[in-house]
Amino acid sequence: MAQQEIDFSKFYPESTKILKIVNMKNEIHIFMKSLTHMQTCPACKKECNEYNSTYHRKIQDLPIFKKTVYIHLTAYRYYCHNSECKQKVFCETVDGFFGFKKRMTERLEDFLITLTLKTSCEGASRVCEKIGVNISGDTLIRLIIKAANKIEPVKTDMIGVDDWAYKKGHTYGTIIVDGRTHKPIDLLDGRDGKNLKEWLKQNQQVKIVTRDRASAYASAINEILPQAMQIADRFHLHQNILTAIKDVTAQNIPAKVKIVQNNEQKVTEPVNNKKKLIKTQRKKA
Ligand SMILES: [Zn+2]
Repeated sequence: MAQQEIDFSKFYPESTKILKIVNMKNEIHIFMKSLTHMQTCPACKKECNEYNSTYHRKIQDLPIFKKTVYIHLTAYRYYCHNSECKQKVFCETVDGFFGFKKRMTERLEDFLITLTLKTSCEGASRVCEKIGVNISGDTLIRLIIKAANKIEPVKTDMIGVDDWAYKKGHTYGTIIVDGRTHKPIDLLDGRDGKNLKEWLKQNQQVKIVTRDRASAYASAINEILPQAMQIADRFHLHQNILTAIKDVTAQNIPAKVKIVQNNEQKVTEPVNNKKKLIKTQRKKA
């Protein structure tokens, strides 16, 4: 098989150039510079092509093999020559990669938001520690709140409602997902149904609600939108089936089952059968 060297520049925007990569015990430091010649002024949206100065930024990126990755970027400050614009000088950004005043790349931020919403801030923080992302639980909470504030209000007739843990066992919230796009459309404080009621009052167009088994959500929906169809979500149906199987198994299989070796005869009987045998023997006696 032909050997192929990994071209690291493919993982970074074309408007940057990698100068040096330093591989340390627990961290990888990637030094790069910006190659931009033009930027759009964030205030007046005019195109600007004159540099003012350079500045250095340290941005965390996705980890590589459990090592924390830091990008050290030499970027430009640009002049805005629009006489009507109040923004005379501004720092450049690379859309879709890192934004103004951001300390992490957008791809790392996206990953952390998804991970946190799927687990909890505490859980995500522990996963991050294992895989080499340097971030605290508090920063994850701030990330989620910022992301929630950016969510555009969506009017949909089909929603999914579930609880979500800021901190498992302590602080919970309620996440509302668009049932058609499967994208979050709101995050509410608490999971007692109070804030859900307020949300439903503002969203009377909802016809179908997929929810977990929490009675607080059921009564909030019944009270505000009694005509809406309520559906148990697939995760909780699976959970119900698994619990039922576990109960039946625990009733019918003895705690110890002897594994039959070669010519040995199997001697263990299921618990229920044993009871039946005892009963029959008593009757006979
Ligand atoms: Zn401007």
